[in-house]
Amino acid sequence: MKRKISILGSTGSIGRQALEVIEKLNDKFEIIALTGGSNTELLNEQIKKFSPKYAYAANYKDITGAEYATLEEICSNKENDIILVAVSGRIGLKPTITAIKNGINIALANKETLVMAGDIVMPMAKEYGVKIIPVDSEHCAIHQCIKDIAQVDKLIITASGGPFLHKTIDEMKNATVDQALAHPRWNMGKKITVDSATLMNKGLEVIEAHHLFNMPYDKIEVVVHPQSIVHSAIEYVDGSVIAQLGLPSMHIPIQYAITYPDRFEGIKSKSFSFSQIARLDFEEPDWDKFKALKLAYDAGKTEGSATVCLNAANEEAVFAFLKGKIKLFDIINTVEAMMEKHDVVKNPSIEEIFCIDEEIRAKSRELFLKF
Ligand code: MG
Repeated sequence: MKRKISILGSTGSIGRQALEVIEKLNDKFEIIALTGGSNTELLNEQIKKFSPKYAYAANYKDITGAEYATLEEICSNKENDIILVAVSGRIGLKPTITAIKNGINIALANKETLVMAGDIVMPMAKEYGVKIIPVDSEHCAIHQCIKDIAQVDKLIITASGGPFLHKTIDEMKNATVDQALAHPRWNMGKKITVDSATLMNKGLEVIEAHHLFNMPYDKIEVVVHPQSIVHSAIEYVDGSVIAQLGLPSMHIPIQYAITYPDRFEGIKSKSFSFSQIARLDFEEPDWDKFKALKLAYDAGKTEGSATVCLNAANEEAVFAFLKGKIKLFDIINTVEAMMEKHDVVKNPSIEEIFCIDEEIRAKSRELFLKF
């Protein structure tokens, strides 16, 4: 039986790599729907190659070869066995909720879903018997390590440290967009690459891990590991540590998520050699230089709408940085200023979450004018 899958965000970095995996495992998958944003040329190529029944794009008139369906329609189509949510930004949240309510398993690559609404999404997935399978390499690693969550005492999330790991704070303050986008290990979209430079990405991953594995924040540790070979680890109550290792490649966690619980050769990276890798380094994050990480922990521990505020201020500031409107450290200054002023709403509804998100973005844009 082929596994029926839809990919939200098939033209993005994760979506394209997912299709490379599916191409390798073409006897295992049938694609129900593909969706893209503004890159209709690539989406049309993908439709031609993979023949989905349905497709969605912002400019649908430019799409040929598949029937039109909205994200909501795609996510309520019970033909799907699994939906890979690989869109970036808040746009991923509502379709994910729709898929959960329709009992469809989720391979989750969209960070905002859990950062903005983890307290709603995870209990809902439990209620509907839906699996949320993480795609991010760190959470995928933890997912692979855990046998019985009740016996796990600590999660250890690794961070490559990004392009500024060995730069001074001053060098980082004056970094250009190109420098921030020059990630030493991973080739990803622009937003997540800037987040990896400030370590906000790691902060968002800590919040996601808290929700995915129901682990308190003081039991989630971040360690800098520049080689990106150990993708994350867990420590059991008896002190035993289990880590997942592999060469840095997103194909592996994507493939694991969409084929779970099976494993296939698929796109196998070259065979792993400890002796060739020779050494693995680990160090504590520099909390002054990577203040974003501390802000993310603070927001997570505050709970309620604090993580919505953190995410909205950060995303808006990253976009402004990419447009050359603000400096790299102004991203952190924005998040800090917004969090200081934010009146936390306990247990916000989805509607309240979107309202707060909108409000924080508007306030952040006002703040940029002052930098
Ligand atoms: Mg990651």
